[in-house]
Amino acid sequence: MSESHLVFARKYRPQKFSEVIYQDLAINALKNALKNNRVGHAYIFFGSRGVGKTTIARILAKRLNCSNPTENEPCNECTSCTEIIKGNSPDVIEIDAASNRGIENIRDLRENVKFSPSGGKNKIYIIDEVHMLTDQSFNALLKTLEEPPPHVVFILATTEYHKIPETILSRCQDFVFKKVPLLNLQGHAEELCKKEKIEYDMEGLFWVAKKGDGSVRDTLSFLEQAVTFTDGKIFGEKIRAMIGYQGVDVQIELLHSVLAETKFDKLFSILDKSYKDGVDLNKFLWEFLEFSYATTLIKENLNDKESLNYPVEDVEKISKSISNYPIESLFLLSDQVYNIYEKLNLLKLRNSFETKVFFELSFRKLISELNKPTVSGVLDKIYTLKQAIESGSFSIPEEVGTTKNKNDEEKKSPEKIDLVSGIKDKFLGSEVEPDKFKGI
Ligand SMILES: [Zn+2]
Repeated sequence: MSESHLVFARKYRPQKFSEVIYQDLAINALKNALKNNRVGHAYIFFGSRGVGKTTIARILAKRLNCSNPTENEPCNECTSCTEIIKGNSPDVIEIDAASNRGIENIRDLRENVKFSPSGGKNKIYIIDEVHMLTDQSFNALLKTLEEPPPHVVFILATTEYHKIPETILSRCQDFVFKKVPLLNLQGHAEELCKKEKIEYDMEGLFWVAKKGDGSVRDTLSFLEQAVTFTDGKIFGEKIRAMIGYQGVDVQIELLHSVLAETKFDKLFSILDKSYKDGVDLNKFLWEFLEFSYATTLIKENLNDKESLNYPVEDVEKISKSISNYPIESLFLLSDQVYNIYEKLNLLKLRNSFETKVFFELSFRKLISELNKPTVSGVLDKIYTLKQAIESGSFSIPEEVGTTKNKNDEEKKSPEKIDLVSGIKDKFLGSEVEPDKFKGI
């Protein structure tokens, strides 16, 4: 396989600690251990998939066995380093605990650890997905960890820390690998595009990074697919088409059609267009749920760029589009969209037409719901009214509703108004019966 055909994730796999992105905490601790010659016998590398656990394990293995290391890094040129890079070093044993062979390997492990390393200084066992080991294998591993030969280093990588027995955990040093933030992944993808001379815009890279969901490996493999799909043009519009996302403008239109329009035409045309374009309607609803929830965060200024998962330009657009809506409406909307989503998943409809009908009915109902006075809204109005009465801006005539001395009252105090018409005025002629509130 020629260099240019290597998949990005392999071609750009870091070969030095300094090339790894976003895992400084773990790396600095490892570097300190190396510098002070205090490398332990067993490490647990815990973190979600594709964040660099195995990559860092291999760099550590290279650094430990390198015949010409700098203080912190392997040389990547000596025999040991090149063997490890090629994956054929006799002293670095990688075991995939999820495979049957992995279990056999653990059985052999107790015998094999006794032998000294053939070329290098240490024998390094990298056990991937270690939580998948059987009880028997964990026991075999434990016996080795209890009395490790001096030249052996274990690196146990896992995505599920809680599945590892306490007896094993207590003999290891833990390193936590964090999910890589979206903006870091976006920056990483940008660097790679520059190196590969791939055209891009930042929105395109944003969607690539979002698809990566915290994983460098997943980001790079999606980038590779995107390069093929878009013929090397990682532009927002093209990537959106690739992932089947219609863009924030459609979401904003949908929001207005639900919160501001009194007719259903706009709403129906958006749903109809999505249906005809072959958009996955379940995904469409989920995206609107995510969007409507994001509006509440933006409205309350609770957002940071990361947690929202929208490109910066989109966040600005969303922020402008919701400026006229009160937070209560946005909350209610996201809450109701969540209910629709929940119901959709229970219904298990047979095809997209049924889903479209379900959406039309649900959104129609949603619009009516949102336009009804809410209990909290009515209570709020009652409270406002109570305050008004108490502060004296409301006069309470002795006989409510009579016209006795009306002209005199108005002359004496122009701001004092009749209670009945006042209540009607405050409640904007809604269904609330003023009589009910005589007691307050
Ligand atoms: Zn070396």
